[in-house]
Amino acid sequence: MRNVLADLCLESAASTALVLRLARGFDESANSVEQAKFTRIATAVAKYWITKRAVAVVAESLECIGGNGYVEESPLPRLYRDVPLNSLWEGAGNVQCLDVLRAMHKEPDSISIFFTEIRAAMGVHHQFDRFVTRLETELRDTSQAETRARRLVEGLALALQGALLLQHAPAVVAEAFCTARLGDDHRHSFGTLPGGTDFEAIIERARPQVG
Ligand SMILES: Cc1cc2nc3c(=O)[nH]c(=O)nc-3n(C[C@H](O)[C@H](O)[C@H](O)COP(=O)(O)OP(=O)(O)OC[C@H]3O[C@@H](n4cnc5c(N)ncnc54)[C@H](O)[C@@H]3O)c2cc1C
Repeated sequence: MRNVLADLCLESAASTALVLRLARGFDESANSVEQAKFTRIATAVAKYWITKRAVAVVAESLECIGGNGYVEESPLPRLYRDVPLNSLWEGAGNVQCLDVLRAMHKEPDSISIFFTEIRAAMGVHHQFDRFVTRLETELRDTSQAETRARRLVEGLALALQGALLLQHAPAVVAEAFCTARLGDDHRHSFGTLPGGTDFEAIIERARPQVG
């Protein structure tokens, strides 16, 4: 269970970092063309990825509290029912990904600015660096862009989340995220962080501070 909780905390930390970075971009867009271009592309990337991940996060969170998570006395059934709506009324997944391609096509420097942000975090985590290098190679290939759109946008979201955590989160969180989400040992369900991960530190950081 500690592994599942820590993994959910990583997802929450990464999504929060991404949304806060986006909020800063919006704040600064009025006085910065670069921030406006970054925000243009990062908004669609974030909407696509966070709304997709939220479905899995809510389902796993429901399971964490067992049958109590399923019955209507708990708030989780409502969240479970409502969470797929985010990727509809915020723009369906394919549409968000096509929007990223459109932004890249119409304003090619928007993707350069996006990568400037990502590259600023390189040189600290080997798996992050490899992921970013591979992603840049994939993006240079313009063939079948629409068919590959989800793959590319997922890569952009993960790379930006990794970069933000490496720059702003405690090392234990950033390293666990980059290893679990960007490394070759990536697994598909929550609770699959490698043994030796400092689960307590990751969970403690996410615990609400009361008082
Ligand atoms: C509860 C609720 C409240 C809503 N409230 C509002 C509101 O207040 N105001 C408002 O304006 N709208 C509202 N909507 C509508 C909402 O914005 C649309 O449902 C949403 O934009 C998706 O459009 P759609 O339902 O026509 O699905 P579609 O666009 O038909 O999408 C269906 C599928 O096709 C895919 N798809 C669509 N286009 C492409 C393409 N070009 N290439 C590849 N795949 C594609 C999508 O990814 C999706 O998987 C609401 C919807 C719901 C469910």
